Amino acid sequence: MVKQVNIRLTAKCNYKCGICPFHGKGYSGDFFKEREDINIDMPLEKALLLLAKVRDEGFQVVNLTPNGEFFMYPHWKAILQTAKKLKMKVSITTNGGLLSEDIIREVCRIGVSHITVSIDSVVENHYKSLRTPANSNTYRNAVNAPVYFKKYGGSNVYVQVQCVEQDRYDEEKKQILAHYENAELNQISFSKVISANEHGTAIQGAAKGKKISDANSTVVENKAKMCANFGAPILMPNGLLLGCCGMFYFYNRLDGLKQYCSATHNTVKGGTDHLLELYDSSKIFREFCNTCQLYEDRCDKIENKFISGKYFCVKSKRYERYFPIPRKISTLPRELQLFLYKTNGVKQLKKLKVI
Ligand code: SF4
Ligand code: SF4
Repeated sequence: MVKQVNIRLTAKCNYKCGICPFHGKGYSGDFFKEREDINIDMPLEKALLLLAKVRDEGFQVVNLTPNGEFFMYPHWKAILQTAKKLKMKVSITTNGGLLSEDIIREVCRIGVSHITVSIDSVVENHYKSLRTPANSNTYRNAVNAPVYFKKYGGSNVYVQVQCVEQDRYDEEKKQILAHYENAELNQISFSKVISANEHGTAIQGAAKGKKISDANSTVVENKAKMCANFGAPILMPNGLLLGCCGMFYFYNRLDGLKQYCSATHNTVKGGTDHLLELYDSSKIFREFCNTCQLYEDRCDKIENKFISGKYFCVKSKRYERYFPIPRKISTLPRELQLFLYKTNGVKQLKKLKVI
């Protein structure tokens, strides 16, 4: 059973970044103009009912990252309080620009289990050129947000900084890693830029992704080939159920599939199962997948693991993930640190609370 459900409550964002497929130029057309029905806020009552429903169905984790900024949703506090009452784990990606220290303290008090702050630069002028229209206040909020989430959330909150590879990437990467070196965050990740249009998606700078079986065959021969992005349901602000993030882009070509994505199923799980069947059997769906470079292989994704300064790094096709090395093993030789990571030793030592 899929444990995570994604609920998109708003499409609004406080920024309009150049590379953004939804609000900027990262999509060849005008994303929301072509999909006006999802450019809305989900009414609070509907959102609360939905949360209770997915909890009843057994979903334990709710990801509240929208195609915009979660903290633009006027009722975000009520949503977090309800998720807490329902004992659901909450995961959110935010740009952090609206989050003062007081707001972050309040978010941690209510409860969030995984927060990802999308930053892209810690240098004010460059930040302002990437996140438009940013000012000094939103810049400071964003850059300080990960530190405050750790300060007020402690070990209850997994704090991640997420950056997208852009121009000045190598220089930027070094600055970001140095900036958070002593902040005891959980992860700093760097990903490639995605470009998209209604016909497909591409990851810039990445080798072409492996695809599922070709568009003319009628059945995917091996379930293991299913794209790892598929199957965790995404509930859109208008109630539509999508099966993966790739479906955002070909949303306006879903004519043959929309009937299955609508809320005609009594349960979210029922709708999800139906989408999974479609993944196996629908030629239309196969064609979308074959033009989507967001395909994620379920195995064999990691290209390299290494120690870089105060971080352990895992590199894959689309991501570079940096994990701060715990203080207690920071003075060990690099080879030994790498050995401990590769053999799961660090995980075990953390579990035993030795480090
Ligand atoms: S902050 Fe994120 S969602 Fe908002 S415009 Fe920028 S990239 Fe898009
Ligand atoms: S390849 Fe793209 S469209 Fe197909 S399941 Fe994966 S994310 Fe979705």
